[in-house]
Amino acid sequence: MHEMSIAMSIVDAVVANAEKEGGVRISGVELLVGKLAGIEAESLKFCFSAATKGTIAEGAALVIGEPEGTGECGECGMRFPVTFYYAECPKCRSLRITIVSGEEFLIQTITIEEEGE
Ligand SMILES: [Zn+2]
Repeated sequence: MHEMSIAMSIVDAVVANAEKEGGVRISGVELLVGKLAGIEAESLKFCFSAATKGTIAEGAALVIGEPEGTGECGECGMRFPVTFYYAECPKCRSLRITIVSGEEFLIQTITIEEEGE
């Protein structure tokens, strides 16, 4: 499953990051996953909890922010919501559209607990 390999790479990244910071447990992870990123947020949550089993991130709360897709027209500069890639400008019908948001996929925050807390 696509989301499973994504979840595993997120877990690898957050665990490596927490260990570098001297963390003993990860209690929360916040992701930004744009609506156009092609990732199912619900499925990713499910895979994330499976992928954290046996790691210091086990039981961490996963919060996923999903920015809407926005396109910008290369002809008239209009910005408008897009739900898929091959969008057309609603004003001038140009196909020269640049996606300005909605493709994000990044780890925004990791909540790390240090020893003794
Ligand atoms: Zn336009």
